[in-house]
Amino acid sequence: MTTTSRFTDPTKAVFRNARLLRLQRGWTAQKLADLLTEAGRPTARSVVAKQEKGFKQAVTVDMLFALAHVFEVPIDALTGDGPLCQNCNDTPPAGYQCNLCGLTSHPSR
Ligand SMILES: [Zn+2]
Repeated sequence: MTTTSRFTDPTKAVFRNARLLRLQRGWTAQKLADLLTEAGRPTARSVVAKQEKGFKQAVTVDMLFALAHVFEVPIDALTGDGPLCQNCNDTPPAGYQCNLCGLTSHPSR
């Protein structure tokens, strides 16, 4: 497990990884919300969308475990840096938001 991250905000890291995992699986935000709800973590699609954009409150441990459960990945896969975005290599042009990873600018490293 890494102790340093290129993300200063753990919630941002978790939902950025979750977004990439979701897109790899071809799941909509609605499908992820439904799966989280089935896993005992009732979640609305709008909450998934807002979390991925970094608008919501800090990720809870409950949510972290629910995400790991529905994606069938270890917690580390969500809390770590994850792979660089295939689309923008984690460096979208200034002023643009990557439509794959959702980053808007250089993450702090
Ligand atoms: Zn990207």
